[in-house]
Amino acid sequence: MTTIKATCPGCGEVSLTADDVILRISSISSSNSYAFDCPDCGDFIEKPADERIIKLLLSGGVMPVMTHVPAEALEIRTGPPINYDDILAFHEIMKTENWFEDLLGRT
Ligand SMILES: [Zn+2]
Repeated sequence: MTTIKATCPGCGEVSLTADDVILRISSISSSNSYAFDCPDCGDFIEKPADERIIKLLLSGGVMPVMTHVPAEALEIRTGPPINYDDILAFHEIMKTENWFEDLLGRT
């Protein structure tokens, strides 16, 4: 079986087999990653996987896991994060008649 060399932040270079490595591939290349339990310290290590790393791991016999990134995670967000005051205001609005139309500005 092919030995796969990886690096643990605490232990340095460690030797793994294909079965030790989880390779996650998604439709969004920036969220591709690989992970393993360090054989020395036992820590779970997860790192981004670029195209070169993916090819190396696949050639080493690692079976990829296809992951799904929900569309909401890719939405471009603007403005400040929602806070407790926003939730309270939304709660108060939902107690009124026609709250949804009010939110849409149709009244
Ligand atoms: Zn380690």
